[in-house]
Amino acid sequence: MRDWKEIEREAKILEQVQDLVLVFDAKGNICYGNEVCVKHLNYTKEELSSKTMPVLFRQEFQGVSGEYAPFQLGRLPEKGESALYRKNSSCFAISYEITPLEEDYFVLTARDITFQNEMKYRIAQLQEQEETNRRQRNEFTANVTHELRTPVNGIKGHVTNLLETVTDPEQRKTLEIILFCCDNMSSIINNILDFSKMESGKFSLEEQEFDFYQMMDRILSTHAVEINKKDLHFSVYMDQKIPQFLLGDALRLGQILNNLLSNAVKFTLVGQISVDVNLSRSAGEEVELFFLVRDTGIGISKEEQDRLFKSFQQVDASITRRFGGTGLGLSITKQLVEMMGGSVHLESEKGKGSCFSFSVRLKKGKTVPEGAKNALEQAHSSYQKWSTSSYQEDQENSFEFGSKSNRKEIKRRMDKLVLCIELGSWDKAETLAETIKALTKESSEDLKRFILRLEMGLRKEDHEKSMAAYTQLKAQLEALLA
Ligand code: ADP
Repeated sequence: MRDWKEIEREAKILEQVQDLVLVFDAKGNICYGNEVCVKHLNYTKEELSSKTMPVLFRQEFQGVSGEYAPFQLGRLPEKGESALYRKNSSCFAISYEITPLEEDYFVLTARDITFQNEMKYRIAQLQEQEETNRRQRNEFTANVTHELRTPVNGIKGHVTNLLETVTDPEQRKTLEIILFCCDNMSSIINNILDFSKMESGKFSLEEQEFDFYQMMDRILSTHAVEINKKDLHFSVYMDQKIPQFLLGDALRLGQILNNLLSNAVKFTLVGQISVDVNLSRSAGEEVELFFLVRDTGIGISKEEQDRLFKSFQQVDASITRRFGGTGLGLSITKQLVEMMGGSVHLESEKGKGSCFSFSVRLKKGKTVPEGAKNALEQAHSSYQKWSTSSYQEDQENSFEFGSKSNRKEIKRRMDKLVLCIELGSWDKAETLAETIKALTKESSEDLKRFILRLEMGLRKEDHEKSMAAYTQLKAQLEALLA
């Protein structure tokens, strides 16, 4: 056996390390333990050097009947996790490594991992708890949304029936508002339901053959009504190389477009909205479609763009107050697009509009279109009708001063101008002020009211900027009154 002192001299450096260091021979006799071993195991150095490895590593060296089996190095793996026993027979968890020294001596370095193990255990417990909470939350969401759907559908059904009999315009207007609210609520409920299904991994896409142009027509017509109401220009381009029949989840593809289009309409006060669809790839049975949904709305700053695709994110609280919404639409959109083998991108600048683009992969349908050319031409003419709007006509029409339509138009544009100013879209505000100037040649009463409303509409947080732009606008308008 090597001289204890000699080993200690050689191993002086080992006293400095934070790990437990034990030197032992091939029979398992311990010849050296550093200061950390003394502290952890409660043996003195002399006591340690008279012990054998099975005294410290009991589990690995215990024989069948409980007595210590002779030391066999092979029983102790070169590295791993185990327990070290103290003088008082208590033990603690370690991770260790054994390396051979010359002349049949070995060195074992070990580290107390009690704390890490406790942390691992706590983390596992927390993860288990979180998983249970998530499951319960999803079950609750699924139940609540299901329960909410029933009364909303009930109200919708009754209101639709009433609309068939009611003729009074005021009452019809009220019923239409109720229907609109029900539709809004249904889409919120559906979004929450989809989100909870996606979170619990229970969401899947269906594959069915569908008529692409028919689907687009249905979606575009739904939004065209609102776009026209808001007086925006709407243009649509569809690549005619896109096959008429495709295989995929038409409902979910429609949902992606609906989400992007309804945001575009919601956040655009003046200007235009456009939808472009291109066939970006066609290989074998597969096609890739590339969609662009552009608007000239309020836009989104660079900092806010990244987080918008995460759940429940809206640009700021004022957006929720003004436009409503749950902040789930884009996160669902992103997940749906990814499930369809594509990705979604956003380019936007605050005050200048947004451009959302996404691609999806679908299969070519099996149905051979009847009179293929005609069907495509028909589809083409059906979407071309969206390329014009009352906005464009307005630009061409000149309003007769004092007429009812002129007053209505001035009022509508003033409302938009106030919104633009509140949202800090100064370039749009200026364009609008120009058109109002052209329309309001002598309508001083309208202008006075408008100036008052502008003053009330100024936002506190942009006060200086608002004041400068407002003073300029006010001067322009007052010059008209003079
Ligand atoms: P929601 O379902 O509430 O509309 P979304 O996830 O669809 O939520 O959108 C989140 C937020 O992203 C919106 O509240 C808005 O702040 C911003 N946003 C989305 N689309 C547009 C857009 N076209 N123009 C400006 N802001 C947008």
